[in-house]
Parts: sequence; structure tokens; C-alpha cells
Amino acid sequence: MRCPYCNSEDVIDVDGEYVCRSCGSVIGPVLYAPRLKIEDVRPLLRRTAASILLASLNEEARGLGPKVSVEERIRRYVEEVAEALGVPEAAKKALELYGVIGKRRIQGKNPRVVAGALLYIAVNEYRLSIDKAAIANRLGVSKLSIRDTATRLRKYVRRGVEYAN
Ligand SMILES: [Zn+2]
Repeated sequence: MRCPYCNSEDVIDVDGEYVCRSCGSVIGPVLYAPRLKIEDVRPLLRRTAASILLASLNEEARGLGPKVSVEERIRRYVEEVAEALGVPEAAKKALELYGVIGKRRIQGKNPRVVAGALLYIAVNEYRLSIDKAAIANRLGVSKLSIRDTATRLRKYVRRGVEYAN
């Protein structure tokens, strides 16, 4: 940096201000690039990761075309989200629950919401610290829809177990 008063290049940073050593002028504050704390960046990273996953799910849904069944979509959503959340064991449980509930009962429902709800029930059973917001974000659906669907599906799970006994 050059001093605007005497044109000297002998300018130093003194306690956050540029000072010319030739003429002694205080030129102005040193502007630092803002430092981001990891806590500030984390929600952004989460949103970015979620939107990337959502984009890939959308991409996949388009690529799958109408010939891929709802069951298959649900299975893929469950597995991908469980993987993304680092709880692959919950996917197995969620798909087991899906088998108990049966595809007839989820007819006409958004496969993403169903997948999220199944996964939510599974992580609760395993007492994993994954909340419905994390699942909802990754599927691009609302956490309320996951909660409501999970409540309904739980009843079927209980009944299914009763029938089996
Ligand atoms: Zn100067």
C-alpha cells in the first residue's frame, strides 16, 4: 500500500490501522476479511447438503420414470436418507416396518413423506439422536407431515404386530 499523502510505500499496520512511517500519517483502518466461525457456517452447510441431496433425489425420480413403483421409490429414499444421516441400520428397520404396514395402507401418499415417517419411527425405536427435522430436510418435506404420517403408521405397526401374534 502507498501513502496518499507522501506517496511512500513504507506503510505498516499499527493495531489495526495503516500508518505511514515516512510522514507519520494515519491512513485508515485495516480491513480484515470477516472470519466465519464454524457455528455460523454449519446451518449453511446443512442446507447445502440437503439441497444437493434433494436435487439428486429429484433427478433420480425423473430418471426413474413412471415404471418404477412407489415401493421401490420408498425403499430408495429410506436407504439414501439413512445413509446420508449416518444411520444405515435404521433403513433396515424402516423397511421391515414397511413390510408390516403393507403397501395398501400407504397408497396415494407422498413416497418421500412415507419414507421419512418410516425412518423416523425406526430411529426412535433405536433411540438414535436423529430428529424429524433432519429427515424432513433431506427429503424436502415438512417435519409436520412426517410427524403426522408417523403417528398414523405407528398404529398400523401395532396392529400388524397384534395380528401376527
Ligand atoms: Zn506518508
